[in-house]
Amino acid sequence: MSKRTHVLVIGAGIIGLSSAVWLQRAGYKVTIIDKQAPGEGASFGNAGVLAGFSRLPFTRFSMLKKVPKMLMDPESPLAIAPSYGLNMSTYGWHYYKSCFKYEQGRDSLTQIQMKAFDADQTILNLTGAQSFIRSEGSFALYSDAESVENAKTGDMLERQQQGVNLEFMDAVQIRDMEPKLAPFYAGGVYYPDTQFTVSPIDISRSYAKYFQENGGVIVQDEVSAVSDNDEYITAHTTQGAQHFDKLVIAAGSASKRLVAQLGLKLPLVSERGYHVMIKDNDESMPLNRPVAWLDKSVFMSPMDKGLRIAGIAEFADIDKPPVQRQLDNIKQSAKVMIGGDLEFTSEWLGSRPSTPDSVPVIGPMANHPNVVLAFGHSHIGLTLSGITGRLVTEIIDGVEPSVDLAGFSPERFS
Ligand SMILES: Cc1cc2nc3c(=O)[nH]c(=O)nc-3n(C[C@H](O)[C@H](O)[C@H](O)COP(=O)(O)OP(=O)(O)OC[C@H]3O[C@@H](n4cnc5c(N)ncnc54)[C@H](O)[C@@H]3O)c2cc1C
Repeated sequence: MSKRTHVLVIGAGIIGLSSAVWLQRAGYKVTIIDKQAPGEGASFGNAGVLAGFSRLPFTRFSMLKKVPKMLMDPESPLAIAPSYGLNMSTYGWHYYKSCFKYEQGRDSLTQIQMKAFDADQTILNLTGAQSFIRSEGSFALYSDAESVENAKTGDMLERQQQGVNLEFMDAVQIRDMEPKLAPFYAGGVYYPDTQFTVSPIDISRSYAKYFQENGGVIVQDEVSAVSDNDEYITAHTTQGAQHFDKLVIAAGSASKRLVAQLGLKLPLVSERGYHVMIKDNDESMPLNRPVAWLDKSVFMSPMDKGLRIAGIAEFADIDKPPVQRQLDNIKQSAKVMIGGDLEFTSEWLGSRPSTPDSVPVIGPMANHPNVVLAFGHSHIGLTLSGITGRLVTEIIDGVEPSVDLAGFSPERFS
C-alpha cells in the first residue's frame, strides 16, 4: 500500500479523530469531513470515564426480562420514543438473538479492553491530551446492602474473572475517600485503575489540533452520499463530488445511512443520553473521582467546569428535542447523590451509536474492502477510541490486527 494513499474519515468525533491521528502517524494523507466542529457529537458530553472495567454486554435474558417494567416506569433510565419503534423492532430481534451469544460478546469486549489502555496512553501522550486525564480510580455504588452482596457473586465477580481489578468497599471506606457524597449508598466497588478526563471536549480538540498541525485537513461539511467503484471512493458534499482511495466511516449513530448506501443494512440505533452540569461551590471538599450510582445508571464526574451528572438510555431520533422528564430524573439523582441546593448551569443531549450486541463495528466491508467501518461504541467510545484508531490503521495497512476482529465484523448481523 502506497503511503500517499488518501484516506477520507467521515466524522470528527473521538473515534474519527483517533483514527485520523493513527492513520496520519502511519504516513497516510488523511482528510476528515464533519458537519460540526470536532468533538461536538456524542463525544462532547460523555461522563469522561476511561471505563476499562466495562466488559459485560447488556445482552442478558435477565436484563431483557426487566425491560417491560422499566419502560412503564417514568423514573427509570430506560425509554423508547414511540416514533422510533420501527428501528427498535430490528434492533430488538438482534438483541434477543445476541442474548444466546452473551459469552461471545463478552470475549470480544474483554479482548479489546485488554488493548485499550495502552492505545489510549499512546495517543493521549502524542497529542498532549494527557494533561486532561486524572488517575484517581472510580466508584460504582449501590443503594442497598442486598445489591452489594449480589454483586459479589454476580456482575462484579464476573468482571474480576474478565481481568478487572476492583475492591469492594463498605460505606465507611467510601465516605473516607469521597466525603462530599451524601450517604445514598450502602456500599460498592472501587476500580483503582480507572482514569478519567476533566474535559472530554478538550481531548477531541487536542486530537484535532495535533492532526491539523501535522498536515491533516478537517473540512466542515455534510457528506450526503458515498459510493465505491473498487478503484476509488466518491463522497458527495456541498462542494460536489470528491475522490479518495480509502474511506473510514466513523459518523457515530448517523453511520447507518452511509453504510446502507454501500449495500449493508445494520441494526445500529441512536441511544440518547443526557448530562447536566452543576456548579461546584464547595472547593474545599471536591469530588475526587467519577462515581456511578448503579441503581439509577448515572455517573457523576468532577470536571474542570463543575460536576457533571450523565446517564439515561433513551432510544430516539437524535434530531428530536430533549425530553424534560429525562433531565428532571437526572437532576433528581444529582440531588440525592450530593444533597443541598444545587445550581444547574447547563443541559446537554447526545446520541450514543449502539449495536444490539453491545460490541462496536470495526472492520472492512466484505463487498467494499476499501471501506472500513468504525462506530457503534455505545457507552464506551471514549474508552475504546485509542484502540479503534489503531485497529483501523492496521486494517488499512493490511497487517494482522492487534485484536481478533471476528466478533466486530460489519457482516455479523446479516
Ligand atoms: C451521556 C453519555 C455518557 C457517556 N459516558 C461515557 C464514558 O464515561 N466513557 C466512555 O468511554 N464513553 C462514554 N459515552 C459514550 C461515548 O461518548 C460515545 O461512544 C462516543 O462519543 C462515540 O463517538 P463517535 O466518534 O463514534 O460519535 P460522535 O462523537 O457522535 O461523532 C460522530 C460525528 O460524525 C458526524 N457526522 C455524522 N454524519 C455525518 C455526515 N453525513 N457528514 C459529516 N459528518 C457527519 C457528526 O457530526 C459527529 O461529529 C457516553 C455517552 C453519553 C451520551
